[in-house]
Amino acid sequence: MNVSDSERVATKLASEGYEIIRDASSADVVLINTCSVREKAEQKLFTQVGRIRQKYGREPVIGVMGCVAQLEGDTLFQRAPSIDFVIGTKAIGRVSEAIESVFDDTGRKASVSERASTMPDDANRSAWGTLPNGRVSARRFEKYIDLGERDIDYDWAVAERQRHSKYVAFVPIIEGCNKFCTYCIVPFSRGRERSLPAAEIIRQVLTLMREGVREVHLIGQNVNSYRPTTEAGLEGFAGTTPFSRLLRAVAATGIERIKFTTSFPRDFKPDIVEAIEEHENLCNWVHLPVQSGSDRVLKVMRRLHTIDSYKKKVDRVRSSPKDIALTTDIIVGFPGETEEDFRQTVELVEYCGYDSAYIFKYSPRPGTPAYEMKDNVSAAEKTSRFIELERVQRDVQNRRLQRYIGKTLKVLAERESTKSNIDISGHSTCHKVVNFPGGRDMIGTVQQVRITEIKSNSLYGEVC
Ligand code: SAH
Ligand code: SF4
Repeated sequence: MNVSDSERVATKLASEGYEIIRDASSADVVLINTCSVREKAEQKLFTQVGRIRQKYGREPVIGVMGCVAQLEGDTLFQRAPSIDFVIGTKAIGRVSEAIESVFDDTGRKASVSERASTMPDDANRSAWGTLPNGRVSARRFEKYIDLGERDIDYDWAVAERQRHSKYVAFVPIIEGCNKFCTYCIVPFSRGRERSLPAAEIIRQVLTLMREGVREVHLIGQNVNSYRPTTEAGLEGFAGTTPFSRLLRAVAATGIERIKFTTSFPRDFKPDIVEAIEEHENLCNWVHLPVQSGSDRVLKVMRRLHTIDSYKKKVDRVRSSPKDIALTTDIIVGFPGETEEDFRQTVELVEYCGYDSAYIFKYSPRPGTPAYEMKDNVSAAEKTSRFIELERVQRDVQNRRLQRYIGKTLKVLAERESTKSNIDISGHSTCHKVVNFPGGRDMIGTVQQVRITEIKSNSLYGEVC
């Protein structure tokens, strides 16, 4: 969601005449997009802001967006006076007002650099000093904050130039979260669930198709909680839930590949698997975060599913003739997690045979219910559980991936590999990274790749 937010902010600013550059060292405005789901993002932000001044020896305008902006608000100005403006998660449509409020009214525009968490390297420093046309130098030294609601006419589209890929695009279908899992900051940083009208989603997919996009990812914290306030766009599409109807509606656009993430286990109904089975272009990959293998822990997490109900859903996915890949998220060291609870998580990982799993050490997030619970699993214990679970998952994953050897997968060639100058890199329909020898002319096409080798987090093969 954060990458998608950055793309939309860049789209908005570019449409208003700003020049978007990735090199923060020569930008007039640096926008820092923050995420505090799992880490002490505030500290990281202050370190970044400090470095911008030290490293470039000057002060570009600094704006902060994302979770930390929403949660910390104007306290950020006191803790880091170099920050000029703060834009909440739903206020990003008004980012240009924020920038304009900080500059003198010269009528000229600045160049803007959007960064996630990386700093430009030392080599980029030489760029400082070369002033592109139109740089605005005078500043009013005012602070600006907007934590307001999303504009009714907010434009969710991303311009071709601002997408992370020419051929793959994110399409948000639901924002916010109503689930309030006890460890999670998202319901506080992103507010309540709001679904986009299906007609708007379809319109976006059709536009993306015209622009040459071959794969769309329908995204949201819980895509299967999709509940639009209007039927528009869903008429004529069957299904037991609005989400499975939306899947069928998007499939009917004829776009080559559709993926979706994340699915909330409680709301993951068999009808979703049926839709995947019915439509060739609904990809064979499901991300179903379980978080823990212990019913006791799941209850304290307020995940609203049990291990038994979760396994039934996994069984349904696994029994599909479409050979659906399954991935998950797991937290180790949640408050009160005993050795026995952890053993149950290990057992579940072995049972489910995940194609991959994101494993996280529990991190207390101020303001969440779990923050009030005693964080009584020591840091050393969290680390040892994390390492053990990673090892178990690696073995499971290796066994699972073996079955691809000799099989042919349809791979969307997305870019030249960063690790080899003869390879092309892309994703299969089951969302595996697949590398294979090939030329640049293949980029943007779907290739049939026969898998010859299993690597730790990817597959290797040859075009057949
Ligand atoms: N909406 C999705 C994912 C939200 S955040 C879901 O419901 O699964 C992505 C992942 O971050 C979560 O699945 C969880 O595994 C992890 N996460 C969230 N809060 C965390 C915390 N406080 N400590 C450690 N991991 C956390
Ligand atoms: Fe967080 Fe739970 Fe919502 Fe996912 S479902 S975003 S983990 S509160």
